[in-house]
Order: sequence, then C-alpha cells, then structure tokens
Amino acid sequence: MDKININELAMEELEKYIESIGEKKFHARQIFKWLHRIGVTSFDEMSDISKTLRDKLKDMAYIPNLEIIECQKSKKDGTMKFLIKLDDNTAIESVFMRYHHGNTLCVSTQVGCKMGCKFCASTKEGFERHLLASEIEGQILTVQRYTNERISNVVYMGIGEPLDNYENVVKSIRLINNPYGLGIGARHISLSTCGIVPMIYKLAEENIQCTLSISLHATTDEKRKEIMPIANKYSIEELLTACKEYIKITKRRISFEYALIYGENDSYEDAIALAKLLRGMIAHVNLIPVNEIKNGQYKKATEKSVEKFMNTLNSCGIVTTVRRELGSDIDAACGQLRKKYIESINK
Ligand code: SAH
Repeated sequence: MDKININELAMEELEKYIESIGEKKFHARQIFKWLHRIGVTSFDEMSDISKTLRDKLKDMAYIPNLEIIECQKSKKDGTMKFLIKLDDNTAIESVFMRYHHGNTLCVSTQVGCKMGCKFCASTKEGFERHLLASEIEGQILTVQRYTNERISNVVYMGIGEPLDNYENVVKSIRLINNPYGLGIGARHISLSTCGIVPMIYKLAEENIQCTLSISLHATTDEKRKEIMPIANKYSIEELLTACKEYIKITKRRISFEYALIYGENDSYEDAIALAKLLRGMIAHVNLIPVNEIKNGQYKKATEKSVEKFMNTLNSCGIVTTVRRELGSDIDAACGQLRKKYIESINK
C-alpha cells in the first residue's frame, strides 16, 4: 500500500483519517499543529502523541521532505534566497525578505514555468511539474524553522504561474490560513498572475480575501504579445474586464505589476496609456525596474525614466510605487538559482 502524504489533508480530512485508523478525533488537532504550525519533519517529534500512534502513522503516511540545499544571504538587507530540494530531487526557490510590516516569503508554485515571459528566468529551464499544496505551504514551514523567525506575509511570486496550478494553490492558501496551522490571514497573502482570465473569475468566487497582483508590463496587446506569450490568448481588455469583476465581487484593490524595460515600455506615452487603462479602477501600480537575467535581451530602465514614469502615473491619480530592490547582491531574480542547480546536476 502506498503511504499517504499527510500534509495534504485539510483539518476535516485529517480528523476523518485519524478516526478511520481507529483513533480518537481530537488527536487530529494535535497532529495538525505539529505538521502545519511547527513544521516537523518526522512523526517522532510529536511529543504529545503516543508512540503507538506515531508508529501507526509512520507505517501509513509520510511527511513531505523539503531540504534547503543552498541559502544565499544578502549582506545589504538580510534578504535570503533559498534553493529547496523536493522529494523527487527537483528544486524550487523561495525568497525571505524583511519589510517594516513583517517578514515576507516569496513562494514558488510550480517546478519551472510554461508561461514563457521573455524577461523571466523561471521559464528558461521549461516546466517540470505542479507543486502540491503541501509543498507550497512547506516552503514557509521550512524557512521559518531554518531562520527561527516568524513569517507573517506570503507572496505567490516565485517560480511558476499560480493560476496554472489553481486547485493546489487555493488549497495551499486555505492550509496557510488555518488557525491551527500557520494562521496567516488571507489579507497578508498576495497572489501574482500573468493573467489567466478564466481563473481570475474563478478565484473571485472562492471567498478568499487575498490580494491579487496582475503582471501587466505593457499597455498595448501588440507590445504585450512581444514579451508575454499569454497575451496571445487574452487581450488586455479581457484581462481588465476580469479584474473589474474581481474588484466588484471581492471589494479588494488590485495591484498591477509593471516591469520597466529600457526602450521597450518605459516612455512617457506608456505611462499615460497605463493611466488611461486603469482609470476608475481601485488599483495600485508597482513598478519594477526589470531585473536583468543572464543572456537576457532586456535592460533595466534608467533611474530617471523610472521616476518620471512613477510621477506621471501619480499625477494622473494612479497610486504608484517603485518596488524597493532587495537582495541585489544575490541571485534574486527568480529562477536563477534553480537554473544553476540544473546545470550542475547535468554536468
Ligand atoms: N507567474 C506569476 C508569478 C511569478 S513572477 C506572474 O507572472 O505574475 C512574479 C513577478 O515578477 C511577475 O510580475 C513577473 O512578471 C515579475 N518578473 C519576472 N521576472 C522578472 C524580471 N527579470 N525583472 C522584473 N520582474 C520580473
């Protein structure tokens, strides 16, 4: 009989499971806390669970193993970038960042990515598989244990497209929310998508209060198609219509990400066009001077043009900030550590 991944069970499922193996239901809460709050890596760490039950669990179930194989720490701001190996020897990345509002972890949702955005390193090694909900949550548990510091915010902005792994991502948000587990409120969770339109409508109906970020990066379909293949499937108009519906249903503000690329999308005209697109929406724009990747074709917009872009949007009444660059002395752009890992095992 195959062992089950016990971290995939939601609280009610764990209760049913514990009863099904002839044990009292209340043990489920104790076990859930060990798994989803403390993040134990073996059943023997569960000190208030009898040895008989621990042995039973060991025979029938397993705890997924997320192993930190590299941690790069920024000397400038304490940002830590982790390369994490999964049970099947594939690897993902998570980034720990310190902000004034608390520690934030940027998590991966897939091993690799299918989306093919031209400026992004995550996509260069192709797509291997979806992450399980327990592997998404596991990144927080693993890093929290390693750093011994509480993580209070989570951003789904690591490797992968969250809405291309919809069910597992939604399940992971519910696991992370659970008060017997990490207990991180949905308002402290942001999910970023390149814009898989039907899934935005679906997410709006889930009754999850997380913040949605849209990776827009261009103001015309023509330009967006050049840098983001997903634009061939959904137009900016379709995307923004879905966003408006999301705001209407959830009453939550949407954040638009815009990576500023030198000479591509960073002109004054682009800023005006962006302001026109977002007029009347409860939105916030996050400008990211593009992070240059190895062998990439794109260059970062100049500081001057970034500032001008921001001022133009702000003067049009669109609340705009420039993302503070963290960990600039480490391989902070997602996908670069994994790329190195793949190159090293293929040597
Ligand atoms: N697939 C999701 C989430 C992962 S990427 C998405 O597309 O939103 C998280 C954010 O980082 C996205 O806005 C993405 O476009 C951006 N990004 C990726 N590579 C980047 C780079 N080299 N420089 C700046 N931003 C980048």
